[in-house]
Amino acid sequence: MKKRLVILGAGESGIGTALLARQQGYDVFVSDGGEIRDNYKMELKSAQIDFEERQHSTEKILNADEVMKSPGIPEKNELVKQIRAKGIGIISEIEFAYRYKGNSKIIAITGSNGKTTTTSLTYHICKTGGADCALVGNVGYSFARQVAEDPKPLYVAEISSFQLDDIKTFRPDVAVLTNITEDHLDRYEYKIENYISSKYRIALNQQTEDVFIYNMDDEVTVKTISNYSIKSTPAPFTMSKQLPQGAYLLNAKMHLKWKNEEMQMSIEDFALKGKHNHYNSMAASLAATAVDIRKEKIREALQTFETLEHRMETVATIKNVEFINDSKATNVNSTWYALESMEKPVILILGGVDKGNDYSLLKELVKEKVRAIVCMGTDNRKIHEAFADTIPLIVDTATAQDAVNTSFHFANKGDVVLLSPACASFDLFKNYEDRGNQFKKAVKEL
Ligand code: ADP
Repeated sequence: MKKRLVILGAGESGIGTALLARQQGYDVFVSDGGEIRDNYKMELKSAQIDFEERQHSTEKILNADEVMKSPGIPEKNELVKQIRAKGIGIISEIEFAYRYKGNSKIIAITGSNGKTTTTSLTYHICKTGGADCALVGNVGYSFARQVAEDPKPLYVAEISSFQLDDIKTFRPDVAVLTNITEDHLDRYEYKIENYISSKYRIALNQQTEDVFIYNMDDEVTVKTISNYSIKSTPAPFTMSKQLPQGAYLLNAKMHLKWKNEEMQMSIEDFALKGKHNHYNSMAASLAATAVDIRKEKIREALQTFETLEHRMETVATIKNVEFINDSKATNVNSTWYALESMEKPVILILGGVDKGNDYSLLKELVKEKVRAIVCMGTDNRKIHEAFADTIPLIVDTATAQDAVNTSFHFANKGDVVLLSPACASFDLFKNYEDRGNQFKKAVKEL
């Protein structure tokens, strides 16, 4: 008898899993409580996969041998509870794709911040180094779809902690943990320990011959790493000391040391600027070294990488005022790094939907670098309270255009207007891309 795989959620990871499962001979059923996008419905139909939308028919779900739960569906969901109560195994998309990847290698990247940047940069280095590889996860195709449609000898995968919650055997050859700061605590019963544990699951099944890359300057990582019995070979990166193995940055030079390889490179030559990106560059270089990319190629790729949209993206310089779009900064930590990298006086656009932010973390940097704060959100009270005694100039705006015009008005020649909101965007915008695009449009209209 065919094994029955039920897929909850028909986003990119759900559809990818459905296509791969169908190809592997499963009896597949896809169920989404909301509406399924038209292009995805067409794909399901043409692969003759049974599906439903705007409902969950329990009789067609609770007869599953196994369930793939999309990362967006929380554990406290009623249906998930019923599935657990029946003892049906729940896995994530990466676990499913992993079963069918054959001998291919995986570089898996997780962490609270810098995942997309580090993943894209690692992919760029591997490509430049001549590896036949695919970029999977948040950017581009899901891992499962890639395995089904265009398998490669190397996958560079961005992995969220939700994806890691439901792995069983997933074992990356190279795992990267960029850093750990509070985020998404609502999904972990507000227990930071649970959130931290889920991140370390990236190394759960690793063995000695695998590599674990982590940030030695990250407070939470350093405090907690010894609580997890990680078997893989450690490859740390840091800006505070020399290391015999790993990557370190001292006196504006990155040193990469791995086995018998050694390389040095001035950070002046990095395409990605800012302290946080130096960390991401070290992590990506180590990951590429671990899959044997040559150092000359790593050097070349670090210079030729093109920055990503909505992440410290330079939009334009108008009358000597530079505009930077960092709309992807949806928590305080990201904004901290954005401010940290600023070398000119800043007009800071902050605000949106706050997921329990502690703005006091930004106070020092705001005091040092920010001339005015322009709030862009429906409820800006917390920002006013946090910075009232630090900054004399805090104003409210309610559209991107208003925020850009106001910022331009406050800016002097040589200043930077930085959109790095520290908040989610759902109050005024569809998502962070929409926020960034509206910001860019308003800048271009100045
Ligand atoms: P993620 O995919 O984890 O959300 P991104 O690479 O998309 O991360 O970057 C999101 C934002 O986080 C960027 O705009 C930047 O301001 C900030 N950021 C990037 N890398 C780091 C890092 N290593 N540490 C802290 N903040 C970072």
